[in-house]
Amino acid sequence: MGVKNKVRSRTVGDRLKDLQHEILIAIASGKPLADVMALLCARAEKIAPKAICSIIRVDSTGRLRPLAAPSLPQAYSDAIDGAAIGPMVGSCGTAAYLGEPVEVTNIKTDPRWEDYKEAALALGFKACWSSPIKSHDDRVIGTFAFYFRTARRANQTEKRIVAHCAHLCTLAIEHWAAQNRIRRLAFTDALTGLGSRALLAEKFPEILKHASETGKEVALFYVDIDGFRAINAVQGHRVGDQLLRAITQRIRSVAASAELGARLGADEFLVVYTARESHSEFEVMASALAEALRNRYVLEDGLELKAAASIGVACFPNDGSDLDTLISEADTALNQVKRAGRAGYAFYSPRMDAEKRARQAFERDVSVAVSAGQLSVLYQPQADAHSCSVRGFEALLRWKHPIHGFVSPDKFIPAAEACGAIEGIGAFVLREALQHAADWPKHLRVAVNVSPAQIIHADFAELVERTLSETGVDPRRLEIEVTESLFIFDEKAALKTLERLKALGVSVAMDDFGTGYSSLRTLRSFPFDRIKIDRSFIFDMVANADAAAIVNSIMGLGRALGRPVVAEGVETKEQLELLQLQGCNEVQGYLIGKPLPIEAYSHVTGLSGASGKQAAEATPSLAAGYSAVV
Ligand code: C2E
Ligand code: CA
Ligand code: CA
Repeated sequence: MGVKNKVRSRTVGDRLKDLQHEILIAIASGKPLADVMALLCARAEKIAPKAICSIIRVDSTGRLRPLAAPSLPQAYSDAIDGAAIGPMVGSCGTAAYLGEPVEVTNIKTDPRWEDYKEAALALGFKACWSSPIKSHDDRVIGTFAFYFRTARRANQTEKRIVAHCAHLCTLAIEHWAAQNRIRRLAFTDALTGLGSRALLAEKFPEILKHASETGKEVALFYVDIDGFRAINAVQGHRVGDQLLRAITQRIRSVAASAELGARLGADEFLVVYTARESHSEFEVMASALAEALRNRYVLEDGLELKAAASIGVACFPNDGSDLDTLISEADTALNQVKRAGRAGYAFYSPRMDAEKRARQAFERDVSVAVSAGQLSVLYQPQADAHSCSVRGFEALLRWKHPIHGFVSPDKFIPAAEACGAIEGIGAFVLREALQHAADWPKHLRVAVNVSPAQIIHADFAELVERTLSETGVDPRRLEIEVTESLFIFDEKAALKTLERLKALGVSVAMDDFGTGYSSLRTLRSFPFDRIKIDRSFIFDMVANADAAAIVNSIMGLGRALGRPVVAEGVETKEQLELLQLQGCNEVQGYLIGKPLPIEAYSHVTGLSGASGKQAAEATPSLAAGYSAVV
């Protein structure tokens, strides 16, 4: 008898060891928790043939969540799912509540089973012994139960099995919870609580699969906040973060029925939505998103900001059937919205790809324009408004494209900015202009236009200093023309460069004055040496009293600040006379002289001789070519 028992208990021990081994491998290999638990139940039932095993998880809100009970009908587990633990909730709910084992030897008569016994009795269960599963820090995270078909207690062997299994359950559930936490971190954007790119990559194929099985369309809405970089630069990152959270709230409320919301970049969001009925829902969603995002935002400390978003949309299955394609198409549509002036939405169409390719080809062409010798510089005189004697020249760039012929700088400068070619081009113009100016009489200035991208990205002041010293031009003869858009990019960086230029002795003019969004503020932020009134005001001033009044008030502003004012685009005598009456200091425009090769102005520069003769011959044809763009 003794020998027999010894043999049997060793057998149970061995089998428990095997079970432990098998379960640990299942946990380590990343099997779903429910599968591991089902395996554990099946093995435990083999070692304790009279017991029917059930494992339940207790969630963070204290509710029962059945994990595995392979020998119980699914309906039984379903009935338990979501029940709150408590002192009278069967064996498991009570064990979880008390944090200690509960042994019910007669379900029929035990008061703790009063509300639950019917289902158990119907299955022929008479007794149920449940033990809490505890975490390493002693919280109840589940229960492990044996049901019996006779009204009885658990025997010693069964108790030993339960103790062993409860421990394995702790390992499995804690491992699963840790994995979940890691996934949650990787799948959530910490700032906004939206999904991450990783979540998008994980979930998107499922969404598409479901959509194609049910014949539904899915749209990707690629949302990008307009001018966010400027907001961040001017207002600081704390305000930027608050704005992103406020924007997230709006996206959440408009797209509450969407399958997924994710944040892809600093100010880029993606919403994935499956149409319930028809394609027209996408239009409704896009316009609702654009509308909700184009608005005032009141931030945490009462600061009010205005913001808007551009949205590009691509649809499955029409536009593509994988995430990368659809994102890239939505991005193409988004770029179209940005170029069309932002704050709105566009749906992708294949036509956009053709446009994009053309744009890319154009950008490739622009980036070799300097090295291919296709760029040249024209000069337009700036004259005293009263004597009309020339004070200097503005350098204006020309590009002769091998196929398209002369291309306006209004077209190719933005392309050069977009592809980064502007730095090389800017350096070229500066060198050209200064090399020419070196030969002119010393009283003549030279003005060079500079893009925001040049001033902010490169070490522009250093380039200017080097080019000045290489060409031997007095820094006081150089004027840099900047537009207000400079300050929208990165005000701090812009001011730093402008101050360095001033320290060199170079002057800085505010170009296109009056067209920006806060011209007066810009004037206050830096002591510009000259204000150039945009030519649209001059164009209108003779016929339109409002335009004349604006010009007049800019003159007043210039006088008050002690800054000379230059009127651009002066084409007629009437305009000149009006400007003279208003006290304008300098004028520039076709009336005084068109942008032309410098040789055409040899009477001003006094450069004659061989080069002057050549120029006289060259000028008519050159001027004819250039007139295409002036
Ligand atoms: P902007 O600096 O305002 O230059 C003045 C523009 O007005 C020039 O156009 C000039 O040809 C035109 N213009 C001059 N007088 C008159 C006139 O009496 N009537 C009319 N209707 N127009 C007149 P352009 O040369 O086509 O240049 C356009 C813009 O391209 C310039 O505007 C400037 O912003 C940019 N740009 C030109 N050259 C450069 C450059 O070297 N670098 C950079 N970054 N931008 C440049
Ligand atoms: Ca200019
Ligand atoms: Ca201008």
